[in-house]
Amino acid sequence: AQAHIDAIAKARVLNAYLLETPDRALAMAEVADQKLAAGEARPLEGLPLGIKDLFCTHGVATTAGSKILEGFQPHYESTVSHNLWRDGAVMLGKLNLDEFAMGSSNETSAYGPVVSPWRRQGSDAKLVPGGSSGGSAAAVAARLCLGATATDTGGSIRQPAAFTGTVGIKPTYGRCSRWGTVAFASSLDQAGPIARTVRDTAILLASMSGHDEKDTTSVDLPVPDFEAALGRGVKGLTIGIPKEYRVDGMPAEIERLWQQGAEWLKSAGARIVEVSLPHTQYALPAYYIVAPAEASSNLARYDGVRYGLRVPGKDIVGMYEQTRAAGFGREVKRRIMIGTYVLSAGYYDAYYVRAQKIRTLIKRDFEEAYASGVDAILTPATPSAAFGIGEKANADPVEMYLNDVFTVTVNMAGLPGIAVPAGLDGQGLPLGLQLIGRPFDEETLFAAGQVIE
Ligand code: GLN
Repeated sequence: AQAHIDAIAKARVLNAYLLETPDRALAMAEVADQKLAAGEARPLEGLPLGIKDLFCTHGVATTAGSKILEGFQPHYESTVSHNLWRDGAVMLGKLNLDEFAMGSSNETSAYGPVVSPWRRQGSDAKLVPGGSSGGSAAAVAARLCLGATATDTGGSIRQPAAFTGTVGIKPTYGRCSRWGTVAFASSLDQAGPIARTVRDTAILLASMSGHDEKDTTSVDLPVPDFEAALGRGVKGLTIGIPKEYRVDGMPAEIERLWQQGAEWLKSAGARIVEVSLPHTQYALPAYYIVAPAEASSNLARYDGVRYGLRVPGKDIVGMYEQTRAAGFGREVKRRIMIGTYVLSAGYYDAYYVRAQKIRTLIKRDFEEAYASGVDAILTPATPSAAFGIGEKANADPVEMYLNDVFTVTVNMAGLPGIAVPAGLDGQGLPLGLQLIGRPFDEETLFAAGQVIE
């Protein structure tokens, strides 16, 4: 814990931590020492972790990357972080993120962008770590924690993992409780870990998972022994390659990496087959209707009364307006406007209902692929390697949304997906591959992910 506290203090230029909690870390580490000495070690005894600042932590400021939560100190602990502390983990602090987890580069944080520890060969240009779990990914990559919690609504675990050469898994929707995690789009949000290896993510996910009566969408299924799946390999498995993911303009190096990944799995004993997921092209536009719709509803609660920031106005409506105008950033306001629009009386059927129908079709595509005998699906994790800070932030927002083209389908269908580092691009930056699994079959993703990492 002390070594990590020191490393964090030396790496503040990365802006990965929004809040460091060294006193808490050392107090927790002391308990860990006692447990270890008494031969009573819990599964994660003494492991120092960072927590994405979207998870409410009891008595510790939680911002969701937004000014609107300034000064908010939850009097409760999220179930996921609670489970980690129950198992002996040590909290190093709260990690930076895109505001309310809306973004793909960590540039929408009200507290400034996170800087990736990676650089292009021969260049000093600062790169994004991806988002929205950019602080989590950068902290793991820069060795500022052993592992971190993250959340994924449309790719926010897998895309930053791919950009930073780390491993990230979004489990099946319902595997982890969402209780105490600041909501973005409730039907898509899932927590998961980012860590250095597939093994580490398996160990962390086992602790994070489990039924929670405080979240009715958390499933009442036993958590499998994820570690037992490690080293199992892919012999006899069928891995599908979805032809629709071969999108126009895919860089040759991504295409090559994808091919290479398939070959690794094949030489480890898997059967590689082509599959078709015909509604893939509609996933991104449908996601950018469903997610803002749910966000506009979830964010209605930030009214200056219940949480954090309050800016006085001439009457109560004025206070709401002033608080929301000052408290939310541009991207969040854009999402609220899109969400409100697609849910409004005249447009509900044309946009929201339509997007929900598309969602069903996307889910069915996967069901058919799995019914045909496919055990997991291999795709690139992102359409490119990490880009420069500022490079896309001021462009057309759709440019940024395109980053999620390979990841949003998985949230729309509620499936588990893992991103594993698979190689470097021509400029020495990490590239990741994604494996998508059957519902509640994270085990196959761990086993296959290990073949690639
Ligand atoms: N980049 C996507 C978005 O901005 C996904 C974010 C996420 O998964 N939290 O909506």
